[in-house]
Amino acid sequence: MGDERRSGRDRRTSTDPDALKRGILFVMTGASGVGKDSIRRVALPQLEGIHYSVSATTRERRPDEVDGANYHFLTRERFQELLGQNGLLEHAEYVGDYYGTPYEPVEEALAMGKDVLLELELVGARQVKARVPEAVMVFIAPPSMRELERRLRGRGTDSEEKIQKRLARAREEIRAMREFDYVVVNEDLYTAASVFVSVIRAERARAHRISDSDIARTLSG
Ligand code: 5GP
Repeated sequence: MGDERRSGRDRRTSTDPDALKRGILFVMTGASGVGKDSIRRVALPQLEGIHYSVSATTRERRPDEVDGANYHFLTRERFQELLGQNGLLEHAEYVGDYYGTPYEPVEEALAMGKDVLLELELVGARQVKARVPEAVMVFIAPPSMRELERRLRGRGTDSEEKIQKRLARAREEIRAMREFDYVVVNEDLYTAASVFVSVIRAERARAHRISDSDIARTLSG
């Protein structure tokens, strides 16, 4: 794995015309209930070559959630074990439960040249930015706290106490939104998803991502 990882990185600057460029790591952050999942569901089918990273969590599964698709639902013991084996790219405690990003699938996808999307709360997002400074950070903001509260209550999955805790975390996250590269306001889902798709397309088109081999290919064609 070590060799593969290194070669993935080296090939980025290689002049080999068949060189594989490393994928881009995108992080989507925003208050619980703001609609990150919905934006992803609308946006990803419009984009090729992006892998959604399924997180691990100790939170209880909601009735509409599928283990392995929405999350990997783990016991606290298994989560700690994974953490102890350096198996997580980042992790955080959120309203009484643990959440974390399994490292291997993310690294594999990036090394194969696929972009990767992580959905994280703020603590984890900051850890990723510290570890992977070139990660592209996107914040999803609600139009207002009142609307966020309405959406959280509408979901009907949390106790009053948990709703209050989630709203408190939301306020903290909103205060930090200027740490991000982009802010997308989710007032209307389809507009927000379309802005999100534009952010990904624009990032992919940035000139600094052009490698020597891209230029060589253009010149020799
Ligand atoms: P929920 O319980 O509503 O599914 O998620 C609670 C919060 O944890 C949301 O803000 C969600 O984006 C975030 N979250 C989901 N997966 C991860 C993860 O792997 N790491 C971190 N740090 N946060 C996550």
